[in-house]
Amino acid sequence: MRKASDSRRRVWKLGGGPSFTAAEWLQLVVRYGGRCAYRGEEGPLQADHRIPLSRGGSNGIDNILPACRRCNAEKANMTEDEFRARLELQQRDNLEFD
Ligand SMILES: [Zn+2]
Repeated sequence: MRKASDSRRRVWKLGGGPSFTAAEWLQLVVRYGGRCAYRGEEGPLQADHRIPLSRGGSNGIDNILPACRRCNAEKANMTEDEFRARLELQQRDNLEFD
């Protein structure tokens, strides 16, 4: 039990700055039409860090995008730019199959 709360505290310390609020998150989701910011899937959506906390990103709303579970899991430790480049490659591959 103790270990888990210790590691949670460490993660919190790593993330820079104040966290976004629930209201900011809802506004962001509405702005994206309730869809994933990467492939446009409909929810459920998760808060994705454009620059992962582990790579110096913040918890501020400017660093957050709505992402579906699949994109969030695939993106993992990539930055938004890296993940979008990967999505483009995948799309190109798909075109070749058509
Ligand atoms: Zn997605």
